[in-house]
Amino acid sequence: MRIVLLGPPGAGKGTQAVLICKKYGIPHISTGDMLREAVASGSALGKTVKSVLDSGELVTDELVMQVVGDRLRREDCAGGYLLDGVPRTVNQAEILRDMLSGGGSALTRVVQLSVPEQVLLDRIRHRGGAGARTDDTAEVAAKRLQVYWTQTAPVAEFYRQEGLLAEVDGVGSVEEVSERIFNAVER
Ligand code: AMP
Repeated sequence: MRIVLLGPPGAGKGTQAVLICKKYGIPHISTGDMLREAVASGSALGKTVKSVLDSGELVTDELVMQVVGDRLRREDCAGGYLLDGVPRTVNQAEILRDMLSGGGSALTRVVQLSVPEQVLLDRIRHRGGAGARTDDTAEVAAKRLQVYWTQTAPVAEFYRQEGLLAEVDGVGSVEEVSERIFNAVER
């Protein structure tokens, strides 16, 4: 299983990603996590991306796809993986397709978690508290949503045309939504 999980900020991607990876025994590849780890470690990459992460904008396609390419070449990805937070632009989706072409390692399914905008704004606002992310201030959250609609929403259309897209209703209990996702990836 080589799965991409798409959806706007606040759709519950992170929670669902963990459940999917547990069920299928595949690694969870989150570009957001990898970039935040780079920032925390103080590496050269981290220094380059910190201000971009703090702003809610996207880091460059070249940089993020370099990170993803390195990760996918590791051994634990041989039996499949879940991509969370990438691709974020149609250009990233094209780079990924080229990266995977040959060797029979194309993506098997792209799951789009759909959640109405008002629900998203409420969820993002209520995240706060323990484990709150520094990029979750109201202003940055609004920026991240705007970036999603302009740059990332077209990625779903790209995968629809590739015949890979499964749209899943992201409103419901965690268990309800994960059941829908399991059905979609096993179809
Ligand atoms: P996330 O945890 O997926 O919401 O990502 C947090 C931040 O990391 C985003 O707001 C972007 O600044 C950056 N980021 C994560 N994934 C990507 C990506 N595929 N392309 C560009 N920027 C990304």
